[in-house]
Formats: sequence, structure tokens, C-alpha cells
Amino acid sequence: MKIEPKTNSKKPLYAVGAALLATTTMLTGCLQTAGEATIWEDPTTTTSEEVQIEGEIDEGFCVKAPNELPYEEVKLDGIEEHHFVSTDYCYLESEKYVLFIDKGIDIPGDFQVNVDAIIDELEAELGLSSCPDTYEYCEWMINVSIYFDGEYPWYNVGVGTKIPIFLMADDKPEGWISSATSEGAVIVIYEMFSEEILNSVPYYRDNPSYINDYLDYTDIAHELTHVITERNHRTTEIITEGIAEYMGYSVIEALADEYPSIGVAQERRNLDDYSLPEKVNSENAERIFIEDYMTLSSAERGAQYTYGKYLFMYLYELNGSDTYKKLNDKIIEMGINYDRMEYSEEEVNKFATAIKELFGEDVFEKFGEWCVENDHLQTVGEMVTE
Ligand SMILES: [Zn+2]
Repeated sequence: MKIEPKTNSKKPLYAVGAALLATTTMLTGCLQTAGEATIWEDPTTTTSEEVQIEGEIDEGFCVKAPNELPYEEVKLDGIEEHHFVSTDYCYLESEKYVLFIDKGIDIPGDFQVNVDAIIDELEAELGLSSCPDTYEYCEWMINVSIYFDGEYPWYNVGVGTKIPIFLMADDKPEGWISSATSEGAVIVIYEMFSEEILNSVPYYRDNPSYINDYLDYTDIAHELTHVITERNHRTTEIITEGIAEYMGYSVIEALADEYPSIGVAQERRNLDDYSLPEKVNSENAERIFIEDYMTLSSAERGAQYTYGKYLFMYLYELNGSDTYKKLNDKIIEMGINYDRMEYSEEEVNKFATAIKELFGEDVFEKFGEWCVENDHLQTVGEMVTE
């Protein structure tokens, strides 16, 4: 489902957002539902007309802190059973992020405690800061007005270096899925929709099997990984989705004992892998990494999630806790600037070189051997290519 941006908006954020998206932002949505959803504007479709709107910023426009807007600040008491259900837009401010909460969101009382822990653990396992000095922060919010049917409650809010996290209730439903960029994350989780939405919207009411009996913090860890890694450096599809999948897996494992709701997610979550067009072995592992699955049709690009997850599982086993930090530093040292807008074998090859220089010339051969030995990346399905 493609969600079109509002093209007649004259709000200043829209223009700045469009210009900004054109240079810095990329969709990194997750394949949680069948088909494809374009949630944020496609940066390649920004027209000169939209950019011209930049000159029309309202007089008196100024950046506001979340508490200067007429929306309630939510405070949670840390007890899972004490749910807050939003009836209007509201927000919750934590040390490293601000939650912007849609109408009809059901938040368990321990949500903030759990998300705080996930971000701390991500920073530790990635070896990266969620608010690096090197990143150019937008003065005010990213443009996610396409979710709000023309009204945009947060359009002139600034959060500094904190991560804006939008908790969205898809009550039409439009088929929204979670996604993230360096500028923030959009979280769409059915289990966080209010009972009223789940009981009244036919799509949810008539498909109870779509709704889990637990909140899968794996998905939240996945999206927040995108924000943190993208704020530090852009990479290939396999690296981007792979590290997010691997962190979604490992961070939940690490926190499960200490945080009861995360423990429930760890017990019940579904870690099924996506099918691949071919089994991975020592002979093809490097070629596949360089091809980055770019010939698969976009609706089938789950393969890079799964290949990347096992690549990082292997590299972390081999190299320990500063694996991603080493890779991030190496990419910066080598001056690789690949924005994924258009596939370039030459540029992706540089990432392969970085991995080989860090972890050994034969790292891809050994990874392929490890896959075969451990029966990882051996599930093949029929895939459609473009
Ligand atoms: Zn993703």
C-alpha cells in the first residue's frame, strides 16, 4: 500500500521536511506485513515546487518544546498492569527520546523502563551513541504529517538530540508498518492499539490471530537500531537490516532476565527467517553480500534481513562486543559514502573490503562454512526478481 504525502500542505515543516528528506533520509521499513508500504516520502520524488514552499514559512513560526503544546504529558508508574490509553495526542519525555503518542494507543506502565533499557543496551552492544556529535540534528521535527490526515499535532516541535518516537494507531486501517531513519522512528504495533480500535475495526476484530498476547519489544529494538546506526553512518541494505535484526535478537536476550515484559517477548517471539533465493556457502557468501539482494523485487527483500542477521551473529561470535563499532569506524576511515539511493557494486564492494580488512581476508568463506555447518541461511524459497 502506498501512502501518498499531502501535496497541498503549506505548513513550513512540510517544505523543510521535503528538502531534508531529499538529502538525508531513506526508508528503512520492516517487512512485517505482506507487500510494501511507502510511509515517508520518497526522496527521489521531491519536486522543485515543493522545495519552493520553503520560502513561505509562516510569520511568527518558532520551534516549541513538547510541553509548550496543548497536549498532556504522560507519566507511567513502571507497573506493567497499569495501562495508559490515549484519547488525544499526548507525549512522554525520557532521557534519550520523546514518545509522540497518537490517539487510541494503549501503553503498559513499564513501557518507558523497557525502552530506556533497550536504548542503553543498544548503545553498549553497538558501541555507538544514540546522539553522536557528528550528526546534524534538525532543529524541529521530521515530517510525518502523512500519518495525521492533514492535521499535524507536532509540526513545530523540537527535541534537540533526543530521538522522536511516534507511536501510531492505524485505525483506518491503512496498512502502516514500523519504520525508521536517522531522524526518528515510527512504531506501529497492533498490540499497542486500544481495545476500542481492536474491537471495532473489522480488520483487527475479524482476525484475532493477528494480535499477539504480548508486546514484542524485538520490533522496537530493530527500529531504534536503525536510528542509532544511521545517525552514525549509512551502510548497505544487508548491513542496515542485518544489524537491526541481530540487535533485535540479542538485546532482548540480554535484557530478558531483568525486565519481565521483555522476558515474555523473548519466550514467545517468532524468530522465523525469511526464505532466500539460494543457500549460502563458502563459495557464494561474498558475491551475495556485494549483490545486496538488489535484484529481488522490493516486496521480497526479506532476504537481506536474514542474511545480515546471521552475518552479524557470526561476526559478533568471532570478534566480541565492539564488532559494529569497529565496522562503523572503518567505514568512516575509508571515506565510504554510500546512500543506497541507487545500487552501486563498486561502493558495496568497499564495505566488503572493510569487513575483510577488519575480520580477515577469508571472512566471507568462513562465514559461508559456518552457515552450512550450523544450518543457517539454508532455507530456499521461490523468489521473484525485478
Ligand atoms: Zn528495518
